[in-house]
Amino acid sequence: MTRNQGISKNILELVGETPLVQLHTITKDLKGSYFAKLESFNPGNSQKDRIALHIVENAEKKGILTKGATIVETTSGNTGYSLAMISLVKGYNCILAVSDKSSQDKIDLLKTMGAEVHVCPANVPPDDPKSYYEVAKRIAKETPNSVYINQYFNALNSEAHYRTTGPEIWKQTEGKITHLVVASGTGGTISGTGKYLKEQNPNIKILGVDAYGSVLKKYHETGKLDLNEVSPYKIEGLGKNLIPTATDFDIIDVYEKVTDKEAALTAREIIKSEGIFPGYTCGAVVQATKQYAKQNQFSEDSFVVLIFPDGGARYMNKIYNDKWMRKQGFIE
Ligand code: PMP
Repeated sequence: MTRNQGISKNILELVGETPLVQLHTITKDLKGSYFAKLESFNPGNSQKDRIALHIVENAEKKGILTKGATIVETTSGNTGYSLAMISLVKGYNCILAVSDKSSQDKIDLLKTMGAEVHVCPANVPPDDPKSYYEVAKRIAKETPNSVYINQYFNALNSEAHYRTTGPEIWKQTEGKITHLVVASGTGGTISGTGKYLKEQNPNIKILGVDAYGSVLKKYHETGKLDLNEVSPYKIEGLGKNLIPTATDFDIIDVYEKVTDKEAALTAREIIKSEGIFPGYTCGAVVQATKQYAKQNQFSEDSFVVLIFPDGGARYMNKIYNDKWMRKQGFIE
């Protein structure tokens, strides 16, 4: 690991090479050893820095993106932050279609960074003209000299993790990893990281985390998109109401679903027990790991890596706010 030695040319040089930290108290009742890959250590504070930079640099290499061009994307917030940061450093305009489920903090931050933000309803079908997919598509079409990042349907998404997150984990664990637990949204993280790790050792189990209200787990099990699975839920960035082609379902061994409440309470438990300030989906990943443990997925020899996608600061008005938690009925 060399990234913090000496002077970096700009903030983008600090993307990747995030730390892997052993968990203790929160996993003490589970068989095996547990380690969190802290993606909040990226300069944009989430794993999305990796894909945003990879996709933008790929477009630059192909000559599609030139100075003064516009980057357009749909985002629950984290990819938006990464793209806004990259746009500032590299001199692009940035237009983002954001779900109204995203926390106000995330939206305020994007606007402060100079991005143009369009807030779209979360609870409409993906092909509705008001959905953030359709809004971003329309804006990209109407904006000259623009590039649509299209993270849900872009193979470069998982490629970024195949090239960086996977090799980092393999190196950091000295090949000892037996299980990887990952929150699945676009599926880029789980597919790219999982593919790399399975190529090194096909026995490594790739365990997905999905949300109640999302179609991913059922699709993985049946090969069918069942819209009866769709219902509103609160966790941002986890699960989907469509099938993203960025997900390679063959890489994933099994999915587990978590509830909004248990993920939120577990996130609070992580900060209290480990001193790590986690985002909402970190709570989901630890909660799913506990559920997997109950299903006897792990033994005393298990070496389990959990990807923690982002940090807690973006959720101060949600899971770290007692009023919000009471309103949801998550605490008394
Ligand atoms: N957690 C958070 C907070 C996210 O923003 C995302 C991205 N949607 C994920 C998890 C899931 O990652 P991926 O899109 O790579 O599946």
